[in-house]
Amino acid sequence: MAEVIDKIQKADMGQEVSKFNFWADKQPCWEKCHCPEMIKAECPATNYQFLPCWEIEGTYCKLDDHGATGKDTSICEVCRVFKKYGNGEPIRLKLYGKGIDTSMAELAKIAR
Ligand code: SF4
Repeated sequence: MAEVIDKIQKADMGQEVSKFNFWADKQPCWEKCHCPEMIKAECPATNYQFLPCWEIEGTYCKLDDHGATGKDTSICEVCRVFKKYGNGEPIRLKLYGKGIDTSMAELAKIAR
């Protein structure tokens, strides 16, 4: 699965507008939420644009606690990005293991 996702991502990044890019005709969450460059660089929502952010484990906004994996999507249910683009469908995570690393070592590295 990870190999397939990486292949799709690489194919997607080579094209300006791709059918795999969920955000192609939308205002992406990182723009709507005014995420700083440091967050955008780490967040899987920007790195895996073929899925909406609410279907990705470990996006920045799902992490409210040190050590959290970001599986809890309750914040998405009240988020204006999901309300605008989620079509009222139930949220189901589809991409795991690509989220922001919340280990102290990784956070220290990002802060440098
Ligand atoms: S809270 Fe959820 S829906 Fe809103 S921007 Fe973050 S990941 Fe996307």
